[in-house]
Amino acid sequence: MTRSADVVVIGAGIIGCAAAYFLAADGHRVVLTERSEVASGTAAASGGWIIIHDKETPAEVALALESRRLYDRLAAEAGVVVHRTGGMMLATTPAEFDRLRHQVETATAGGATVELLDGRALIDLEPELARDLAGGTHCPDEATAQAPQVCQAIVTTARARGVEVLTGGAVTAIGVEDGRVAHVVIATERIPTRAVVCACGVWSPAVGRLVGVEIPVTPRRGHLLTMTASPVRRPLLEAGYLDVSGTAQPDPQGLRTIVQPRGDGTCLIGSSREFKGEDRTVDSDLAERMKQRAARFVPALAKMRPARVTVGFRPYTPLGRPIIGWAGPDGFLVATGHEGQGITLAPVTGKFVSDLVAGRIRQTGFELPP
Ligand SMILES: Cc1cc2nc3c(=O)[nH]c(=O)nc-3n(C[C@H](O)[C@H](O)[C@H](O)COP(=O)(O)OP(=O)(O)OC[C@H]3O[C@@H](n4cnc5c(N)ncnc54)[C@H](O)[C@@H]3O)c2cc1C
Repeated sequence: MTRSADVVVIGAGIIGCAAAYFLAADGHRVVLTERSEVASGTAAASGGWIIIHDKETPAEVALALESRRLYDRLAAEAGVVVHRTGGMMLATTPAEFDRLRHQVETATAGGATVELLDGRALIDLEPELARDLAGGTHCPDEATAQAPQVCQAIVTTARARGVEVLTGGAVTAIGVEDGRVAHVVIATERIPTRAVVCACGVWSPAVGRLVGVEIPVTPRRGHLLTMTASPVRRPLLEAGYLDVSGTAQPDPQGLRTIVQPRGDGTCLIGSSREFKGEDRTVDSDLAERMKQRAARFVPALAKMRPARVTVGFRPYTPLGRPIIGWAGPDGFLVATGHEGQGITLAPVTGKFVSDLVAGRIRQTGFELPP
């Protein structure tokens, strides 16, 4: 059989799956290619908080909210499981509480519903929190979703809508004719196409180089502990996270506490941020530090032991924002660099990709700098 496509999406992580979904919804013939298995990259070792009220500007908050709404569409149309938990940020000092006050203003200006809570109100919402916290925030718009489930649900629905999903073969070449993308090569197969979406996460630079495009993405390693029970119902983040999530790195290992219930009775404790290439070695000292730090916020965690410690790679870019836009030869589109926001921003990224391919928009504002 000779295959061809209107669009080939490379990479079946959460970004590639979302892109394939929205492209198919527009009626394009889509091939989604994955060198390994669906959701086997960063998706396999990530948290799943659709987080809105940590963003730096009202525009970023509005974008995250748009993505959150698209999750509801994916839940209705594709069976994506979204746990509508809300989410909280926690301050240990009056200075951090002031910082959160500012964060509430930013998030509210972006359209999110966020309330500022004193220490007592925090306990009313989450009784297992430490009693001496200075205060916090609660954003009921937030939710959690597990990336592997999101990817699998999307792939099942997309297949039913005609998307071809090819796993187990890397794209090794992209043909360009007269300045335009013409085909991709997987093993010995050549697939003619008019457009290619590079959604390869931390592996995007190698795919960009196939067409002479430099994609500035590096792996930023993060540990996660999986606990067999969850003392809390909502995902929690310490206010100090606001200093490490972007390009800054005040702690040498970027250690900041996130606790995320997963909807199945377990929870994740995160996380760290390090530049160590693709080193998958678990750092047990760091894992212990993560647990102790989390216990500062949720004391019950001190007595629990992690069932598993995993390491994943955030697609970090020094631009401090994702890269979503045309680059290089005509028809080549980049959708990557989401760092710690890929789960949150996957649906809106997929929608951007489909809007670009359909010509509904020409730019996203997230292009590679010239
Ligand atoms: C510890 C940790 C916690 C996180 N927590 C959150 C969170 O709570 N909320 C949030 O919003 N985000 C979170 N993130 C970030 C989020 O997980 C990432 O931003 C997101 O998963 C990136 O998705 P992706 O599709 O770009 O990459 P990936 O999931 O890595 O997908 C890329 C795919 O491309 C494939 N590929 C590569 N090269 C080729 C090729 N040549 N041919 C074919 N296929 C190829 C790979 O095999 C891979 O499957 C977290 C990340 C980590 C590490």
